[in-house]
Amino acid sequence: MKTFNSVAALRTQIADWKKAGLRIGFVPTMGNLHAGHFALVELARQHSDKVVASIFVNPTQFGPNEDYARYPRTPDSDINGLAGKACDALLLPSVEEMYPFGTMGCVQMHVPGITDILCGMHRPGHFNGVAQVVARLFNMVQADVAVFGRKDYQQLQVIRYMATEMSFPTRIIPAPTLREADGLAMSSRNQYLEDEQRQTATFIYQTLNFMKDQASLGMPIHGIEAEAKQRLEMMGFVVDYAEIRRSDLSRAIEPNEKNLLALIAARLGRTRLIDNLEFDFA
Ligand code: AMP
Repeated sequence: MKTFNSVAALRTQIADWKKAGLRIGFVPTMGNLHAGHFALVELARQHSDKVVASIFVNPTQFGPNEDYARYPRTPDSDINGLAGKACDALLLPSVEEMYPFGTMGCVQMHVPGITDILCGMHRPGHFNGVAQVVARLFNMVQADVAVFGRKDYQQLQVIRYMATEMSFPTRIIPAPTLREADGLAMSSRNQYLEDEQRQTATFIYQTLNFMKDQASLGMPIHGIEAEAKQRLEMMGFVVDYAEIRRSDLSRAIEPNEKNLLALIAARLGRTRLIDNLEFDFA
């Protein structure tokens, strides 16, 4: 695997591959890679000839009181892991490379509508930062396909919207959520959890399943959401939201509608965890 710190060098490599008729798959990440990320690399490989990953902890998607400074950075083990997954290239840009006029002087992005709800409501500006960095990465890599995890479902929807609306030529491929044996969605943030919190964290997946089961019984949606929130709070979570939505993230009306998903964002101490579960009763 070749590692690139500069976009110019990566572009030369990608131009060579494209000249040879090869298709490029792209997996953007913030590093501290786990099996969930590596599954994205494998999925990208199924849709392309050369896989490019990127690691960049993007400052513009973190709020002032969020974990940008302490976000886990493990470049050596990430590089080994990606090489072991036969990733072909890794882009490791600096903040200066990504934002040549600084993070205050950069072009702003805003995807309207879906960024005002759920995580967008609780992390103001977060999805603007995500759109901003993904647009830059898409321009840098010019991939044929890019893979994003369903674990960050709202992020996936924001990127799909942006890519369609701005005519990016990169096709977005969603990847299933990888979980630990007890159901907890894999996440770089899980390592912030103390032992007891780690045990409690499994309750998120249990609650998502509870929401799905209640919906399958036809229970009213607002009642399901209220009970889910209450159950999480009883376990010690501070709940940002526990909601049932349609797959386009509009509000679901009937519990047994098609293409629904339950979504939870909840905090244990300083650690914010998100997860979702898709279900379809059709
Ligand atoms: P991150 O490094 O957290 O920004 O995530 C990079 C990519 O990996 C995003 O597309 C995430 O949705 C995806 N991802 C993170 N955790 C998981 C997981 N447990 N299963 C599948 N994809 C994941």
